[in-house]
Amino acid sequence: MRITDLKCAIIGDHPVVRICTDEGIDGFGQAEFYKPFLKPQILQLRESILGADPTDVERVMLRIRQRGAFKPFGSAVSAIEMALWDVAGHAAGVPVHKLLGGKVRDRVRVYNGGVRFPLDGHEPEHYAADVRRMLDRPEGFTMIKQPIGFHSPMKSEVAGFHYGEPSGPGLHGILERGRITERGMDHIVACVEAMKEAAGDGVGLALDCGPGWMFNDALRFARRVEHLDLLWLEDLLAGDYTPWTHAELYRDLTARTTTPIHTGEQIYLRQNFKPLIEGRAVSVVGPDPADVGGIAELKWIAEYADLHGIMMAPHGVANGLLGLAALVQVSATLPGNFIAFECPVAQPAWWSEIVEGLPDPIVTDGFVDVQTAPGMGARLIPEAAERHLSEDDRDFFA
Ligand SMILES: [Mg+2]
Repeated sequence: MRITDLKCAIIGDHPVVRICTDEGIDGFGQAEFYKPFLKPQILQLRESILGADPTDVERVMLRIRQRGAFKPFGSAVSAIEMALWDVAGHAAGVPVHKLLGGKVRDRVRVYNGGVRFPLDGHEPEHYAADVRRMLDRPEGFTMIKQPIGFHSPMKSEVAGFHYGEPSGPGLHGILERGRITERGMDHIVACVEAMKEAAGDGVGLALDCGPGWMFNDALRFARRVEHLDLLWLEDLLAGDYTPWTHAELYRDLTARTTTPIHTGEQIYLRQNFKPLIEGRAVSVVGPDPADVGGIAELKWIAEYADLHGIMMAPHGVANGLLGLAALVQVSATLPGNFIAFECPVAQPAWWSEIVEGLPDPIVTDGFVDVQTAPGMGARLIPEAAERHLSEDDRDFFA
């Protein structure tokens, strides 16, 4: 089998990759809806993979893996990797998890990061109410993640929150940092305690925190919430969009608190997880298959983390429904250090009308059933998706 074309369309702000072959089998991959600007980077890789056998996934990846970088620039390579696995699964007539070694679970736990409601305010009672709204959802989430601190509007909405300079609106692109005031710290802790009280002891609570924290604030906070038995604190010191890992700082933090410390959504490739894993610098790693270099890359990192006593909770909130299917396929194969992946949602909502193959409803009792049809388990429906193609992309399904 040979690759005859690599196409990319922007569908509802998601770059979507299609790999075509000489045997009429095609495969799809998807990147985050934050990244419509990636289309030229994806198409730039076309010449490198034309003519290759897509079912030798690794051999194709050797041609393009070096042409990615930390978030957002690992996504082009990652989306192509997922499309290759989709082709390989269809060619073999098996679900992708079989090609990754087979599943060890029939349903995969997810955590909520994508079902969001506008906060009514920034006081503890508003955070508690938000948690209650999420737990009232039909998905039956058993784990939820909340943004706090520098990863939330708290930094600007709570007067006197920190001593740093305000960066203006937006989470990405501007790295707001600074020493948190005593008032700010007390406010965060009160909000977390209120959320934990609302969640109870049957639901796991994780916090997306930064980056932007000074080391001592991070340590002080991690220790102050030890009694709450949180799932993890994410990206306190580096992460999100920082093109570095701060592994040595993370190691000092992780060694000095019982609260699990998490990072990794921005990191590209296994090599860049080496200091975090071998140094046991965090308790949980959270690569995103649509940023790290693909699903096989994520599996390798999960296995290596497991050898070092480190847990795995993949990022994925913006990866869309094809991205969700990929997360399910790889997560079904991971060892027992797997906690849950961050569940993507259809955005815009019409995405649920252009994809077939996923369970309906997708999430039940906080889990997604592992699809056993050939390929990645979800497919674009061309007749439905075509309506959302721009003029530039109208030959995407041709
Ligand atoms: Mg995060």
